[in-house]
Amino acid sequence: MTSGRTDDVGARIERAAEWLRGAARVVATTGAGVSKESGIPTFRDAPSALWDNYRPEDLATRSGFRRDPARVWRWYAERRAMIAEAHPHEGHVALARMEARFEDFLLLTQNIDDLHRLAGSTKLIELHGNIFRYKCFDRDHPATPSEETPDVPPRCACGSYLRPDVVWFGEPLDAGHLRRAYAALDACDVLLVVGTSGLVYPAAGFPEIARAAGARVVEINPEPTPVTPLADVFVRAGAREALPALLQRVEAGRT
Ligand code: NAD
Repeated sequence: MTSGRTDDVGARIERAAEWLRGAARVVATTGAGVSKESGIPTFRDAPSALWDNYRPEDLATRSGFRRDPARVWRWYAERRAMIAEAHPHEGHVALARMEARFEDFLLLTQNIDDLHRLAGSTKLIELHGNIFRYKCFDRDHPATPSEETPDVPPRCACGSYLRPDVVWFGEPLDAGHLRRAYAALDACDVLLVVGTSGLVYPAAGFPEIARAAGARVVEINPEPTPVTPLADVFVRAGAREALPALLQRVEAGRT
């Protein structure tokens, strides 16, 4: 007889691995929780949650930027410096290695921290942008701040302010990204949902779309979320432990 948390997690990982071994098309979707064990705070997890200390409407909206662009710029500059110190962990690497295991694989991340790319992921859509890129506030085109500018925020060549190339509250996601995401979700055999509270749309709707298309939904998270009742299997564990274990079970079953 098996009992206890470890056996339970192991059995659930094995069930998920069995579905993955039979899968041709796999989509993974990740949120802030996947980077927590790299030292980057999530938005909503105590005790270090970002929004416990700041008001999103001041820092992550167009109107907040208009009210105090220097404050928003500096907040992102601090976050960028903190994120620049972080490294991908074994969970990010396991997701990157999954690309080669399936006929089709797509990673849809809500994270802006660049850690999936650093881990080697190439079949990757950054739904909420990337904190290491910049764009023009007024005209939205990509831009790079000149290094010697004293302005905070720096100005674009067209005279507007620059801003981080991330999606703020109330802003639409890139339509091309969403088209690719929905096409992959409609066709996938398994959807892996890792480290997201399942509260921010449209990513929060991905599990329902995949289920409606007949896919198995596997959730990896140390805490239950609104996704949990929709998941075919809920692996209650952190991404750093669970993802390498899952990949190892997928590979073990294939050899
Ligand atoms: P969230 O903060 O709302 O939720 C984090 C989730 O991760 C929670 O469900 C939590 O239980 C889970 N979690 C905690 N530790 C974990 C671990 N070790 N392994 C796996 N899961 C773990 O994050 P969200 O759902 O991504 O939503 C909100 C927004 O936060 C997104 O728009 C994202 O762009 C932004 N964000 C990104 C970063 C980043 O780029 N690293 C950091 C903070 C916030």
